[in-house]
Amino acid sequence: MAAAALETKSVTKTYSTGGSTVKAVDGVSFSLQRGEFVALVGPSGSGKTTLLAMLAALLNPTSGAIAIDGQDLGTMSEKQKARFRRRRIGFTFQANNLVSYLTALQNVELLLRLNNERDAAGRERARELLVLLGLEEHLHKLPRQLSGGQQQRVAIARSLINQPTLVLADEPTASLDTERAFQVVETLAALVHEQNRAGIMVTHDLRLVDYADRVIHMLDGHVDRIISPKDDLSCLADPDTCRMVPMDVLGFEEAQTGESVS
Ligand code: ADP
Ligand code: MG
Repeated sequence: MAAAALETKSVTKTYSTGGSTVKAVDGVSFSLQRGEFVALVGPSGSGKTTLLAMLAALLNPTSGAIAIDGQDLGTMSEKQKARFRRRRIGFTFQANNLVSYLTALQNVELLLRLNNERDAAGRERARELLVLLGLEEHLHKLPRQLSGGQQQRVAIARSLINQPTLVLADEPTASLDTERAFQVVETLAALVHEQNRAGIMVTHDLRLVDYADRVIHMLDGHVDRIISPKDDLSCLADPDTCRMVPMDVLGFEEAQTGESVS
């Protein structure tokens, strides 16, 4: 069987500041296949952003292992990791970080340039992605000429342009109104499914998890439960009523008992 798109094994992150330490992520193990779109939810401070930063190869775990396409991030030098990240991982954050003096199309093409792939095929892909995201009329506009939702969609196009295995989005809709938020998430989910990527979106808005195949609920740094969006999400407030999806649906069992992630 092909390696999982993503596999994490007992991933932990401890921050030390001053005299105190915080275990921000505490023993997270799960795997994700291509074609799966997962929502990561949980209270503020539960470790979602820290986990995502480690999955994006932007932050090293204190312990544990992360493999993408079967390749263990822990075995890579910082330089190899940067290169791997540019090719295999796409991300969108709450602040979309578009370059203010580049147009929508140029912002997406910028990522191609970093990989030396700004050829005709790449540029065509950039245009196609923006069109798919409903931005046909806005290709040559600067970020400040676009609405918040349009800017966020440019950021999503940018996160997909290098055809990554893993697409990560940390509260991509936090600055949007409800209608725009639904549109952005629906499009992101559709692209993950159609293009057979593995996607993880952090959100605090439980109404948006309908577009996800699974919901991972984090609490105090660990995976508290994995549920289906079809289940009654009120269980997140009242765990006793929660119907659990078997952990192995997300390859949880495999990740816990597997010999090695690489
Ligand atoms: P979430 O995204 O779920 O709100 P975070 O990953 O941002 O959670 O934070 C998890 C915990 O780690 C919190 O207690 C937070 O205060 C702490 N934390 C996050 N980043 C840092 C940091 N750079 N230095 C020290 N503590 C941090
Ligand atoms: Mg966060």
